[in-house]
Amino acid sequence: MIIAIASFKGGVGKTTTAIHLAAYFQAHGNTLLIDADPNRSASDWAARGALPFQVADPQQQATGSYDHIVIDTQARPVLEELAVLADSCELLILPTTPDLLSLDALALTIEYLQSIDAHRYRVLLTVVPPKPSKDGEQAQQMLVQANLPVFATRIRRYAAYRKAANEGKLVTNVRDPRSQLAWGDYQQVGDELWLKQSPPGTEDLDAQQTD
Ligand code: ADP
Repeated sequence: MIIAIASFKGGVGKTTTAIHLAAYFQAHGNTLLIDADPNRSASDWAARGALPFQVADPQQQATGSYDHIVIDTQARPVLEELAVLADSCELLILPTTPDLLSLDALALTIEYLQSIDAHRYRVLLTVVPPKPSKDGEQAQQMLVQANLPVFATRIRRYAAYRKAANEGKLVTNVRDPRSQLAWGDYQQVGDELWLKQSPPGTEDLDAQQTD
């Protein structure tokens, strides 16, 4: 599977999503994460510790053969790049936090994708604040009502992700009481992709939503 993670706004969990989905796919076959973001966040993450898959920049000749490729794309891609990605990947994942600024940036991205008749994209809500906030749920409902493809799973906000980035690890490997809950969210997103079936409905996810 070849997937790319793209966003017109920084700080929406693009790199965190690329890292953890690459980890998910590594369990299903040899996986390469291509760090196409000039910020090199994914490469820096890998350099600080150890990740269970190879990270390469687009200029590097990746050695070995890969079953899965995850591309962490350039932040704020130029539209032509987005068009190439939309055309060449099996799925373009568009992470967004559930706030107006990010959702506005997402709307522009989707407008562009629709204008070039691209259909292989799906929105992922990230850094979703814990209850009693309903921001994640409301943003998801709004996207669904607008007939936009959106993952059923929402990535909740956990401090464990920052620890993982700092330590160069996956969130599942940091010492934090919420690390397995955090990893569980990305596993569920991976399952949505890999098993091509939706995890439990929104109600069930809401029931889990504790922080
Ligand atoms: P981007 O690639 O979109 O700029 P990052 O993945 O680098 O975003 O994340 C931006 C910041 O938010 C980082 O400090 C990261 O640790 C943090 N972060 C990402 N996802 C989450 C999350 N689900 N919960 C809490 N913090 C998160």
